[in-house]
Amino acid sequence: MMFEDYLAQLASKHLTRRLLPLESGTGPVVRIAGRDVLLFASNDYLGLAGHADVVDAAVRATQTYGAGSGAARLVSGSLPPHQHLEEALARFKGTESALTLGSGYLANIGAIPALISSGGLILADRLCHASLIDGCRLSGADVRIYRHNDMEHLARLLSKRRVGRRTLIVTDGIFSMDGDLAPLGDLAALAEAYQADLYVDDAHGTGVMGIHGRGTIEHFGLEKRIALHMGTMGKALGSSGAFIAGTRHAIQYLLHRCRSFMFATASPPASAAAALAALRIIEREPERRRRLWDNRQRLFEGLRRLGFTMAPSVSPIMPIVIGRADTALRFAEHLLANDVFAPAIRPPSVPADTSRIRVTVTSEHTPAQIDQALAAFERTGQDTRVL
Ligand SMILES: *Cc1c(COP(=O)(O)O)cnc(C)c1O
Repeated sequence: MMFEDYLAQLASKHLTRRLLPLESGTGPVVRIAGRDVLLFASNDYLGLAGHADVVDAAVRATQTYGAGSGAARLVSGSLPPHQHLEEALARFKGTESALTLGSGYLANIGAIPALISSGGLILADRLCHASLIDGCRLSGADVRIYRHNDMEHLARLLSKRRVGRRTLIVTDGIFSMDGDLAPLGDLAALAEAYQADLYVDDAHGTGVMGIHGRGTIEHFGLEKRIALHMGTMGKALGSSGAFIAGTRHAIQYLLHRCRSFMFATASPPASAAAALAALRIIEREPERRRRLWDNRQRLFEGLRRLGFTMAPSVSPIMPIVIGRADTALRFAEHLLANDVFAPAIRPPSVPADTSRIRVTVTSEHTPAQIDQALAAFERTGQDTRVL
């Protein structure tokens, strides 16, 4: 039987995955198998998924508008939470307009094929998120991969292409499994020089990067030079869904061409209302971002001092690079036995022989919890001979 063979093959390579059942909400302390465990795995970077205002907004929207949206918005109308959220997102991003979608995955597999089709050329970073790669494939355009953040390689690919060929450069803002930044200034300059468009997936930058938390584009001061801003609401915004912000015409175009918007039921009113409440907190409480960066520094420096091989991260995602899948898996199991949960990330999420422990931190971890985690990482490193 094909299923069993496939699963047996995965097991032999230590690539079996399993769902770890939680008995509580999202952290920083979670309940697993009857024990309290410190969670260093969530992308809820500002702890907004459980914030009282965000939860209240979701409850109120559900009571007012119902649990579900009923249909795609072009079919059965556009509910107030989605409209208010889009207006707020456009203001937040400094664009004329914004469109929300059910998830980041949907945004990428819908927007990229809307922006480019067969005959065109996509140049994508080797470490792009899977949803970007799927969007590229769905578009029917030729896809060429450039080495991670290698601007010389990208320039070479751009200069080799047929003059005037429609070209889209695709990158993460913060890379989801490495925690490093794309050099957006250089990417924007190359895009301008070669008349290409640039699509930045800022799932992990939204709410986190930039003085106001507006994302990686704000961090680099490129608001005027990058036309489309894609971000998600499932991470720092503590809710779910995604958005694309841009000019009125760009958003109108997507409304007619982005199939994952046109043919998908709108996200529940609760998700949109929660994201809007989160956005207000992000604007109102910059101290959350300060706490996040302080925590990030404390944990990153602590892990480095212990002697772990850290990926060159500059964000709240700070992977410990292990290499072999079986060692990474054993590390994560030992760590969990020490009451800390950070997942082993293995292929196909990362390239072969770069399996890692993906550690993330939030504004809501206390310094004492971070120190407790560091002690657990040290014991685990010794027990598994990673240190
Ligand atoms: C999480 C993530 C996505 C997918 O977003 P969802 O809203 O979870 O579907 C897309 N791109 C990147 C870089 C991500 O990290």
